[in-house]
Amino acid sequence: MSKRLLITGGAGFIGGHLVRHIFRAHPDYKVRVLDALTYAGSRENLAEFEGDPRFEFVHANILDIDRHRDAFDGMTDVIHLAAETHNDRAILECGGFVIADVLGTQRMLQAALEAKVERFVHVSTCEVYGSIEKGQFKEEDAFHPNQPYSASKAGGDLIARAYHRTHGLPILIVRPVNNLGPNQFPEKLIPLMISRALADEPLPIYGDGKQIREWIYVEDCCAAIDTVLHKGIPGEAYNIGDEIERDNLTVVQTLLAMLGKPEGKIEFVKDRPGHDHRYALDVTKVRSLGWKAKVGFEEALQRTVDWYLANREWLETIQSRSAQHREFLKKWYDDRMAQTS
Ligand code: NAD
Repeated sequence: MSKRLLITGGAGFIGGHLVRHIFRAHPDYKVRVLDALTYAGSRENLAEFEGDPRFEFVHANILDIDRHRDAFDGMTDVIHLAAETHNDRAILECGGFVIADVLGTQRMLQAALEAKVERFVHVSTCEVYGSIEKGQFKEEDAFHPNQPYSASKAGGDLIARAYHRTHGLPILIVRPVNNLGPNQFPEKLIPLMISRALADEPLPIYGDGKQIREWIYVEDCCAAIDTVLHKGIPGEAYNIGDEIERDNLTVVQTLLAMLGKPEGKIEFVKDRPGHDHRYALDVTKVRSLGWKAKVGFEEALQRTVDWYLANREWLETIQSRSAQHREFLKKWYDDRMAQTS
């Protein structure tokens, strides 16, 4: 049956790719994106869908969902991506992360419960499990988040679980590894390093750069989210990844080689406090639903580098907006934090 999807955070990095994936995989579906357009969200990420009768955009904050209940009108399912997502900023302004990622998630869950949606996919992260030296985390493993961002996401993940257990809301939780691909705001490792390398600026790497992350091409992640939406069992969580491990230094060296830039600008800086050493997920469960990743790491990185080279205007526009947005957001959250304390 044709679905009508409410996608929160759809103007962000994964969100724009997810809308494209949904329309390609299910041309008869309708999508309504709800997004506050923080510094990380951009209508440019959704430009190709403007005017498409299957697509709608609602400019709203998930925290204010009570004032935007009509966003749920006619929607069958929800995919909840909206969140504050940058680890470094969470160290500086943790309150905003707790408010958006925990309280914001709870408000969406409550609204979805009242709207009686058929399925609610909550997008969590691999980081909720914490660091692992050997082996891989399975979905039922305990959470040991070490950073304010991961802890906020863990809070949202647990509230989502509780809404299933307590209220019977048909929740599906996904926990993806690091995504890479076009349209990512240039504060995360790969777009940050690409944008700085293009400007011949120093390339700061935390500690010795030997922290290991798992990577997945954003289109593969969107296909996995779609698979879980349709084939997952409500109440269950699904890790999303493809067992591709790379240390941060290797990632930066590889992208510099692709850009034809020297490694001399790499600067090792004091490590991030609480920095996890290694993330690794067991992805047997999502694969058992029939999903399989299609793009390997080097190909994904090459596609990403090529996109940033061809879209320098996007990079400049989004960078120039961010300072303004940051100020606005800080005030917005300060006001709300004052209200909740
Ligand atoms: P992003 O930062 O690029 O986009 C987040 C989007 O959410 C933006 O469009 C922003 O405007 C919107 N938003 C933020 N706060 C909001 C609020 N209060 N109300 C409404 N909209 C709001 O993030 P992303 O990388 O696309 O990540 C999407 C989701 O996937 C997040 O929940 C993130 O935690 C999770 N995730 C991301 C990755 C990754 O590698 N990018 C990995 C695992 C999990």
